[in-house]
Amino acid sequence: MIIVKTPEEIALMRESALIVSKTLGMLAGEVKPGVTTLHLDALAETFIRDHGATPGFLGMYDFPNSLCMSPNAQVVHGIPNKTPLVEGDIISIDCGALKNGFYGDHAYTFEVGEVTPEIKKLLDVTKESLYVGIRELKLGNRVGDVGYAIQKFTEDHGYGVVRELVGHGLGRKMHEDPEMPNYGKRGRGKKFVEGMVVAIEPMTNMGTHRIKQLKDGWTILTADGKPSAHFEHDVAIVNGKPELLSTFKYIYDALGISSNEEDEFRQT
Ligand code: MG
Ligand code: MG
Repeated sequence: MIIVKTPEEIALMRESALIVSKTLGMLAGEVKPGVTTLHLDALAETFIRDHGATPGFLGMYDFPNSLCMSPNAQVVHGIPNKTPLVEGDIISIDCGALKNGFYGDHAYTFEVGEVTPEIKKLLDVTKESLYVGIRELKLGNRVGDVGYAIQKFTEDHGYGVVRELVGHGLGRKMHEDPEMPNYGKRGRGKKFVEGMVVAIEPMTNMGTHRIKQLKDGWTILTADGKPSAHFEHDVAIVNGKPELLSTFKYIYDALGISSNEEDEFRQT
């Protein structure tokens, strides 16, 4: 059952999302060769608590840390560790925060130093696919319309769309209805309704869409060992249209990037 949020609840959810956005912005300035994902995790936990929130992932389903840190061929759910990042890596950072009873949950794949043009393209296409999907999150559409749009855009670029992990409704629980797959058929699935909030999160593999899981019971990685990227936004349906609750602005500020990619999804 989709749990619709009131405008007041959506305002609270924006607060939770913003804490995650700011955490990712803080991390953007820290991601560099030589840094360990465990160090970044500790910085994030302190930052989230300093902003009056609780790390959303810590302890959830017994996850041991505050961030999911998935470098290179890891897709999602990687566990922070003491291995330093090296020049040319990519690192997908997924962050959650709980404040006022509501969760924020979004993700960004960062470049560590200089990456190859092939990897840069994987990141660009995955991020663009996120917006292609968000554009379909409007009244009159269904879950399948978002999935179809993301899948078509991604596969047209020759990349693999992960099937086993999906986006989701978001609210007082991290994972609410509906599931939001990054693949699907037009006109299929649940109808979108005013006031719903979802996390849309394409996970895109440079090669095959197939994945495997490490023995740690968490880490998902590509079956062929090629890189994978992950971008996620929290989005509400307001006035029938997609309204971004999260933002990559703080990341772009830290990296000196100017972008207006989010403007079409802001009504205020
Ligand atoms: Mg996430
Ligand atoms: Mg999520």
